[in-house]
Amino acid sequence: MIIAACFAFMATSAIAQTSSAGTKSGATKQTAKYYCPKCHAASDKTGTCAHCNAKLVKEGDYYCPGCGASSAKAGKCTACNKDMVKMTSKKA
Ligand SMILES: [Zn+2]
Ligand SMILES: [Zn+2]
Repeated sequence: MIIAACFAFMATSAIAQTSSAGTKSGATKQTAKYYCPKCHAASDKTGTCAHCNAKLVKEGDYYCPGCGASSAKAGKCTACNKDMVKMTSKKA
């Protein structure tokens, strides 16, 4: 009497969340770029931003949009529990 079509939905619901494969490839000697997490000023060396004195984040690393903390991997900020954002050359 009852058509069990809904079973099909449940069978395919368990899709594992894929985190981007973190294989380190291309360890070439390229000049790393650094960006300010606050004003996105670019620099070719690490240090602090000339404008707002925030610690510069290396391109490809992650930073906290809340407090500007940086990390080499994604996750939550240890200081304020925000999601870390990947630093790219483009302003988000
Ligand atoms: Zn800045
Ligand atoms: Zn933070």
